[in-house]
Amino acid sequence: MQLRSSPNTSRPTVGATPGHVLELVRSRPAWTRQQLLTATGMSRPTLQDRLAPLFASGLIYSAGFEASEGGRPAELIRFDDRHLVILTLDVGHTHARVGISTVRGQVLRFRDSRLDVTRTPPPAVLNTLIGLAAELTVDAPDERVAGIGIGLPGPISLVTGLPGQTTTLPGWEHLPIFDLLRERWNVPMVTENDARALALGEATRHPESTVLGLKWAHGIGAGLIINNRSLGGDDGAAGDIGHVKLSRGGPECRCGRRGCLAAYASGHALLARLAPVGVRDLDHLAELANAGDRKVRAALDGAARRVGTVLAALIALANPRTLVLGGTIGTLPRVVDAVAARVREVTLSRSVESLQVLPSQLGPSAGTAGLVHLVVERVLSAEAVDRSLAAEPGSPHAAIIRAPEKP
Ligand SMILES: [Zn+2]
Repeated sequence: MQLRSSPNTSRPTVGATPGHVLELVRSRPAWTRQQLLTATGMSRPTLQDRLAPLFASGLIYSAGFEASEGGRPAELIRFDDRHLVILTLDVGHTHARVGISTVRGQVLRFRDSRLDVTRTPPPAVLNTLIGLAAELTVDAPDERVAGIGIGLPGPISLVTGLPGQTTTLPGWEHLPIFDLLRERWNVPMVTENDARALALGEATRHPESTVLGLKWAHGIGAGLIINNRSLGGDDGAAGDIGHVKLSRGGPECRCGRRGCLAAYASGHALLARLAPVGVRDLDHLAELANAGDRKVRAALDGAARRVGTVLAALIALANPRTLVLGGTIGTLPRVVDAVAARVREVTLSRSVESLQVLPSQLGPSAGTAGLVHLVVERVLSAEAVDRSLAAEPGSPHAAIIRAPEKP
């Protein structure tokens, strides 16, 4: 089983390098040197040696003093994330959110854009996103972009980090995404499937449990999060459940086949079916569902049964504690209830005994939260920090390092 981005969590070498010391410092709001000595078992000179490059590069700072019993006041050391931000581009089928967040996941600013990634030429989509990102970063000279997280509605190659071939993202497999972004932000970049990013974001709210997340809006995709890591699959296509074929005939799907789950239940399919009764878009569909429109509710109930059936198979496999339903359709209360009922109907009780079925807690920022989580893992793991400390100025890895002050 292949899990994305896997810093080693067993740490026999706690504090062995500056990167490990920073990982320790980040785990609490503040530390005294004595506390760090106790936690690492290092000698005072060794600890000093590990802290010096972290101070010099602006990754830690002295945050005043704490009165200590009897002795001298003890200096408090903190992780300096006051200027570090993460840029995220969370792209769905028809909507994108570009955001600036702290490394702790607080969204500082964002811009939304309606764009149909299937029908818009890829360079135009990327230009729009870069323009929005430039607007968000231009007036913030104090901020350092530590890394970029990019969510895309398709499979993501674990080798290249680029989207694989999919009808949703025609032409994207040839787009030099990283080069085009690097012209402006020369920083580490991470890509992830949009539904898996959403699931990972929601999983930050349930850190102890296995989380199955569903993004159900214009498309349908899922993400499975185990120990805070997203299952990417060997070809980066894990969670692509929208094209599970449910029947031999059935309605035509955008992938060119018939009878896929998406052809029955995706937002695209529902809108096509409900357009004749005046449903304009997903927000309108949600409004009508909540207002009790009978035709809309009937269509959603049928779709939720099919989605619930497919999710039940995943639940039987993974036995998650939490199923989170996100996206404009997934978060509708009636849909959450219908999916929960269907899942319980078709699985054995031992698979769902402790299962909670919830609507998304983070709403339209769930994907952003997942991408921030991935970027932080990429740029602030012990290994990444050590690499950054050794990097030449101007290298993407040096993005987290404060530029030396001019004499
Ligand atoms: Zn299909």
